Amino acid sequence: TSGIDPDTASADVDLAAFARNLHRIRDHVGVPIMVVVKAEAYGHGMINCARVAREAGAEWLGAATPTEALRVRAAGDQGPLLCWLYGPDEDLEAPVAADIDVAAHHADQLSQLVAAAGAVQRTARVHLKIDTGLSRNGASYADWETLCALAAEAEETGAIRVAGIWSHFASADEPGDPSIARQQKVFADALAVAERHGLRPDVRHLANSAAAITLPEARYDLVRMGIASYGIEPAPGLARDAGLELEPVMTLRARLAAVKRIAKGDGVSYGHTWIADRDTVLGLVPLGYGDGIPVHASNSAEVLVGGRTVPIRGRVCMDQFMIDLGPGASAQVGDEVVVFGPGPGPTAQDWALACGTIGYEIVTRIGVRVPRNYR
Ligand code: PLP
Repeated sequence: TSGIDPDTASADVDLAAFARNLHRIRDHVGVPIMVVVKAEAYGHGMINCARVAREAGAEWLGAATPTEALRVRAAGDQGPLLCWLYGPDEDLEAPVAADIDVAAHHADQLSQLVAAAGAVQRTARVHLKIDTGLSRNGASYADWETLCALAAEAEETGAIRVAGIWSHFASADEPGDPSIARQQKVFADALAVAERHGLRPDVRHLANSAAAITLPEARYDLVRMGIASYGIEPAPGLARDAGLELEPVMTLRARLAAVKRIAKGDGVSYGHTWIADRDTVLGLVPLGYGDGIPVHASNSAEVLVGGRTVPIRGRVCMDQFMIDLGPGASAQVGDEVVVFGPGPGPTAQDWALACGTIGYEIVTRIGVRVPRNYR
């Protein structure tokens, strides 16, 4: 599915580092973990990451869509697996038949699951989601009691089993933010309501990476680990300050496709957004926004070449961007450029800061044209 020769550019995925992150995370949190592998495992490759996550002891895997979850199953995975995002007309028979747990936050979704369960003669395992303050998916607290009552009825018929109750934080990556305590309180209240309706979920889960790392009382029976699994801090220094060392899993690398001398005053790339302030040597990196390199990296992010950190000059193009190797540069066509990686040199987090975005987006957007090289 890729469109670039692996010798020209690749995203190297260090599966051993991924496994080490998961072992350290599991030790740190002390409860079962769900490794979130949605969106091609945040760009790292869903099937390989799912396999290694299980080998590293991940009790659960999490996907956004039923289609992603079915792909994990098709690759042979048989363990606990949850998906949570689907449309009103989506066919849920296949995930129910494949023993995939499915989230629900609305009566209509419960009906969808009851119908699917009937059609495939199975009990659908449902994770009821309460919106504790993110205002995204999840039942509003005002509707929670009714949803619990409906779920309890459906459970009695054997159509569903409420296997989980869960929610998601808005600002766990900002420790001390007042929304965190408010969401924890709503979650505890929602669990009490569910219990009054006789619901006895196997797993109550609330924490994402940031919450799991910093808030022991938010861990409940299971934590959902996305970004930290891939070795990226949910916020700069958050894991390190909590005593958890993470290793970035992805290294984006390329070989210089051209090296050229330009003169002071020459404009570089579309729109001439950079004008050389001295004679210098430019290098051409064969990756662009078609591969997920943000246009916001133009004149801001840096890369590593021959042990030196050098800046991007001019606007990032669809397939390529220019870097400033400096006036006396001896770099040659074919030399390796590390766009970002575990360091030395820029990390995905550094790129996020340079581009005004988050580390999540930097790795997740690395596109299908870039071959993944698993190590
Ligand atoms: N849970 C849900 C519902 C999510 O959507 C995500 C990802 O955004 C996660 C958990 C994992 O979050 P993080 O990558 O911050 O660990």
